[in-house]
Amino acid sequence: MTKNLVLVVEDDSSVRNLITTTLKTNDYKYITAENGMSAIAAAATHNPDIILLDLGLPDIDGVQVIERVRTWSEMPIVVISARSEDNDKIAALDAGADDYITKPFSVAELLARLRVMRRRLNAVANPDRSAVFVNGNLRIDFSASCAYLGDSELHLTPIEFKLLCLLAKNVGKVLTHTYITQNVWGSSWDNDVASLRVYMATLRKKLENEQGAQEYIQTHVGIGYRMVKVD
Ligand code: CA
Repeated sequence: MTKNLVLVVEDDSSVRNLITTTLKTNDYKYITAENGMSAIAAAATHNPDIILLDLGLPDIDGVQVIERVRTWSEMPIVVISARSEDNDKIAALDAGADDYITKPFSVAELLARLRVMRRRLNAVANPDRSAVFVNGNLRIDFSASCAYLGDSELHLTPIEFKLLCLLAKNVGKVLTHTYITQNVWGSSWDNDVASLRVYMATLRKKLENEQGAQEYIQTHVGIGYRMVKVD
């Protein structure tokens, strides 16, 4: 496998060094940028496989960097933010970021996120246009509007099925409450977010009812949900 090229955008040199050292010792290639404008330029020139993007940059906001990059590329973007920046995180995901890491983070966490992005890269390179989605024991037949867990069919309401399909089609990616409610209900009022929570709880119960069942749906408190690739 060829080494993935990661663009590291971070103005704090100690964090940048931690990240680049981790990348170097784990078989990634990298380039760095210390502000938003040079990040956009580097993304355009080098076409990296993955961007690790700090949100608090000295010139323009990280969210603006995402918006600019998304005008021409779907390259995976992982946002790095301080714990106090939850709203920025949501704005970043809504602008098209794929995932986020909260500072301070561990090397293990960074590597885990990068592995998820690598899988997303493969998925983008080899788009699965088949009508059937498989993830561990979960199988969704989009054309027949049926979902199965192992051999048994899941009895889902139309909204639960829509939610499940949306998560599956974006497997590995964190979807914000707003993104989900807009796609499922066509709006994003506060009471949609409240009902989303209820629908998600019942959907999850149906997916994970056996003892020791795998977790398919991750909750990101205050942010949204992600379907995890389990195999
Ligand atoms: Ca910063």
